[in-house]
Amino acid sequence: MGAGLVGSVLAAGLARRGHKVEVYEKRPDIRKAGNMGGRSINLALSERGWKALRLIGAEDRIRAEAIPMYGRMIHDEKGKLTFQPYGVGDQAIYSVSRGGLNARLIDHAEKLGVDFHFENACLSLDLREGIIALEETQLSTETVTFGADGAFSRIRQGMMRLDRFDYSQQYLRHAYKELSIPPDEQGGWQIEKNALHIWPRHSFMLIALPNADGSFTCTLFAPFEGENSFEKLGTEEEVTRWFQRFFPDAIALMPSLLEDFFANPTSSLHTVRCQPWNYDKVALIGDAAHAVVPFYGQGMNAGFEDVTVLDELMEAHRGGWPELLHHYAASRKPNADAIADLAIKNFIEMRDRVADARFLYRKKLERMLHEKYPEDYIPVYTLVTFTHTPYAEAQRMGRLQDRFFEDRIESLFRSAAITDALLERLVKEWRQYVRKEA
Ligand SMILES: Cc1cc2nc3c(=O)[nH]c(=O)nc-3n(C[C@H](O)[C@H](O)[C@H](O)COP(=O)(O)OP(=O)(O)OC[C@H]3O[C@@H](n4cnc5c(N)ncnc54)[C@H](O)[C@@H]3O)c2cc1C
Repeated sequence: MGAGLVGSVLAAGLARRGHKVEVYEKRPDIRKAGNMGGRSINLALSERGWKALRLIGAEDRIRAEAIPMYGRMIHDEKGKLTFQPYGVGDQAIYSVSRGGLNARLIDHAEKLGVDFHFENACLSLDLREGIIALEETQLSTETVTFGADGAFSRIRQGMMRLDRFDYSQQYLRHAYKELSIPPDEQGGWQIEKNALHIWPRHSFMLIALPNADGSFTCTLFAPFEGENSFEKLGTEEEVTRWFQRFFPDAIALMPSLLEDFFANPTSSLHTVRCQPWNYDKVALIGDAAHAVVPFYGQGMNAGFEDVTVLDELMEAHRGGWPELLHHYAASRKPNADAIADLAIKNFIEMRDRVADARFLYRKKLERMLHEKYPEDYIPVYTLVTFTHTPYAEAQRMGRLQDRFFEDRIESLFRSAAITDALLERLVKEWRQYVRKEA
């Protein structure tokens, strides 16, 4: 159920293994003219996502259209820029168009033999009767069924009626709104193309990701209510004054700011946790199982990783589907919980700390440690973004790193220069610290 990003990759992965796959999707076919909407919305794709695209044979096609972003470009209130690399060498996260990616994935799955049924929504799942009701048909739960129907999943709703199903949803006080920076007159990018731009302002922030046509999709994150909130931005004068005050270099690049601001919705952000993700031959995947807030750029990547993990289990497993789905759910759930927590933590970091001198110093120190001792010290952001280390393990390492630096950062910060001798001393202390904690 669901031909979104994760549903399409899953369908392709299952077809590749020779299964007959039918996908039911509520919306019209995104590939048909007019269904993509006027706006381009983009996402950051990173290593976990690429692995799934490689698995289904779609990597090259997507990479050809993706824009590498090698780091964060921080814009301060005076328009001064600071670049913070995400990784080392040519490590990058990639900006991809959500609609374009989804369309390519559906195309790809179709070529592998998947049948898509658009405008045929799942209405309900009745596990006791074994029936899935759709707008135009009815299916039996004797057929293996995946709920890839997003954060407000109908399949999950059906599972919630069972005894002992845990469910929670938690909304942030913050909302988001999509805005845009158009291309320059020659069709080029008005600000650095290969970076994710951030205007951090403590309780609110603006970000911008590049599109292939020279434009940027911007997202404004701010509280619903209170100081510097959407509630306070009710008129054109209020929006203009606020942007001039906090984002002076951005407003100069946004001729359609007022139009975008009042036309585009103010949307909420939430985290969904639930368990179990499986019941007999029915299972949840992607946002249906674990919607997370977008601040680690991992929601889609985590959903794609669900598919690679499932595929690896299919390779190894010789039993029936209920048992396989049980293993899949048990192995993914702790990792989904970890990325949900990490995403909320990163929200605070992006908003409040990317402009803080001690934080920047620690980031620099960690980057230099990683460059010099790549096997010994791997920052948590690198573990999450550029490796396949399970999220729960990345979270554990991140906690250790926080504690390790907590005691040291003040004196390190004051001791100024980062020398080879300092890095060597630190890596020795770190090795001991990890051994002790293990
Ligand atoms: C502002 C924002 C920015 C983000 N940025 C990033 C990022 O940079 N990187 C990243 O990895 N992730 C990001 N995410 C998260 C990412 O968008 C989601 O994790 C991803 O879309 C999940 O894919 P999915 O297929 O599980 O769900 P969805 O993309 O929501 O797809 C679900 C599909 O199911 C269909 N559907 C729904 N109900 C039914 C029904 N009853 N019957 C049939 N079909 C149904 C829907 O129409 C849709 O096509 C961001 C999210 C937000 C909100």
